Order: sequence, then structure tokens, then C-alpha cells
Amino acid sequence: MIIVMKPGAREASVKKIEALIESKGLTAHLSRGAEVTIIGVVGDKTRLAGANIEDYDDVDRIVPVTESYKLVNRKFHPDNTIVTVGHKKADGSSSGVVQIGGDSLVVMSGPCAVETEDQIIETARAIKKSGAHILRGGAYKPRTSPYSFQGLEVDGLKLMQEAGEETGLATICEVTSTEAIEAAVRYVDMLQIGARNMQNFYLLKEAGKTGKPILLKRGMAATIDEWLNAAEYILAEGDSQVVLCERGIRTFETATRNTLDLSAVPVIKEKSHLPIIVDPSHATGVRRYVAPMARAAVAAGADGLMIETHPNPATALSDGPQSLTFAQFDALMKELAPLAAVCGKKLD
Ligand code: PEP
Ligand code: MN
Repeated sequence: MIIVMKPGAREASVKKIEALIESKGLTAHLSRGAEVTIIGVVGDKTRLAGANIEDYDDVDRIVPVTESYKLVNRKFHPDNTIVTVGHKKADGSSSGVVQIGGDSLVVMSGPCAVETEDQIIETARAIKKSGAHILRGGAYKPRTSPYSFQGLEVDGLKLMQEAGEETGLATICEVTSTEAIEAAVRYVDMLQIGARNMQNFYLLKEAGKTGKPILLKRGMAATIDEWLNAAEYILAEGDSQVVLCERGIRTFETATRNTLDLSAVPVIKEKSHLPIIVDPSHATGVRRYVAPMARAAVAAGADGLMIETHPNPATALSDGPQSLTFAQFDALMKELAPLAAVCGKKLD
């Protein structure tokens, strides 16, 4: 349930209710909006039976939250969450700081997998020139076949760090195990939990303990409620810096690799305060469909995009057929700028 305070509620009134909630062994989550303060209660609310909270000073009303996810619920936190991704340098300064969920359209791009130093540096330079904000590149690849390229692991993370330093771009890598999380927090700025691990609850908890920004992709057969519950696992560990990524779901259709569920964008915006980006590369699996669906995602209100690019898609070790060339990516970025502006987002 949430306790909605009256506009201008006094600090002492808020504190008194928080203390009551905690004295019953429950957790209080405060959300201070421009107008009103909301206190979200997590735990067994029957313990508050008879407490008559509605009679406390400055309480406006009590609203039950029937959904099983609480911290990611917009009822708990009416304002949009803005996730900050940035690269902290050894001297304490930051570079490549990006905010996801605000008024900018954030574009993440790069190869499916980090293959070589030249490949990732060349890609980082090209996407930066075209206006991308975050460099992606897999170092741990959860491949359908155990005989496919599995990624360079820690060496791949180090190459991502090098490419980030070289270009000033923030970086993101997928993590698939506790060991990968431990290594990735040292080398990259944002962690990605992939579709295949969306309900790996142990991994979600471990990632949430890092406090790093996390991109949580939708599982290929996950409902929106299951996806939000997965995000709840991360927030329950104290990490509020979560971005959701719609990457297509499995349906009966085979013309595309997956079916891009663009309606997830407005649905998530209604149900949650977390930012949502769209990945048209994995959603379609076909290079020529990436640009149309990227445009559609921006029109649907996405906070950003994830787009696979490769210096030579024909030789890519994974996901070549859906990867854009640098020229195609550059053309797409040029198309997106005016479209983003019409949709209330800046692309700069
Ligand atoms: C990826 O981003 O390279 C990836 C494997 O994506 P997904 O988890 O959406 O399949
Ligand atoms: Mn891929």
C-alpha cells in the first residue's frame, strides 16, 4: 500500500509514519514529488491493522497496491526515474555521463560481441562520430549453441574499457554469472542482464548488490508483469538504477527473429517509473528492418535504443545478419534526430 500525504505535509508528520511502519517490521520507501510526498510500504501490511494511519496528521489517503511489484511501481514513485551512466576515471573525474529517462534519446550501439581490439576501437570511434552515447559489446555471450563463439570474457571487458577511454563513451556489457559481475564492475559502466537470464533471480540479486546501472532485457517469453517483477529483485537489493529493454518476444511469427512488442513502451510507462529502451536488432534479426522499427520505437516514446553495428557484418562472429554497417548507422542517426524532436526528445 501507499500513504499519500497532503500537499505541504510537515516533515515531522512524515517521520512519525515512517517510524510507525518500521516499528512493525515493515519497510517505508519515501518518494518526494514536486507536489506530494508518498510513503510506500513493503511487507506484510496486516501488521498495520488497527494502526489507523488515515487519522495521522497530514495524511491524505491510503491506496492499496495490488501488483506484486512495489518499488518499480509508478504508484510508489510517480516521477520518472532518471538513470545516470557515466565513466569514473582513476582521478575521480567522469566522462561520457549520460542520463536515461529524461528528455534525451540515448543510443547504445556496438557489436554483438567484442572480437578484436581493432574491431571495438574502430566501432567506438564510428558510433561516437555518428552521435551514439554508449558503447555496447558482449564479452560473455550466452549463445544458443555451445559450439558458437562464447566471447573473450575478461579480455573483452578490458577492450571495452580501452575503447571507452579512447572515445569518452560510457560502456555496457552483458553479465551471465557472479564471476562476470565481479569482473565487469571493474571495467565497464553499466551491466546488462540478457533475455535468457531475465528470471535468473540469483543473478539479478547479485547484480543489484553492485549499485551499478543495470539494463534488464525482457525475457523472450516473459509477460510485462514477470519482467517488472524481475526488475523488482534488483531494486529490492537497493539498486534503483534500472533501465528496461524491450527486445522482442517469441510468437508464432517466423518472418522476424522475434516479434517487437512496441506496446510494451506505453504499458511500462504507465505501470512503472523506470526508463525503457528498445532493441530493434534482436527484435527483428534482419538488418533492413532495424531502421523502420527504431523509428517506430522513438515514436512510441522509448527513452533510447540499442542497435548492433559492426565494421564488417559479413564476418561478424555473432549476429552479423542484424548488424548495421557504420554508414547505415550514421544514416539512421540522421533520420532519428528530427523524429526525436517531434516526439519531445533531444538527440545530441
Ligand atoms: C545481446 O544484446 O547481444 C543479446 C544477447 O541480447 P538478448 O539477451 O536480448 O538476446
Ligand atoms: Mn547480439
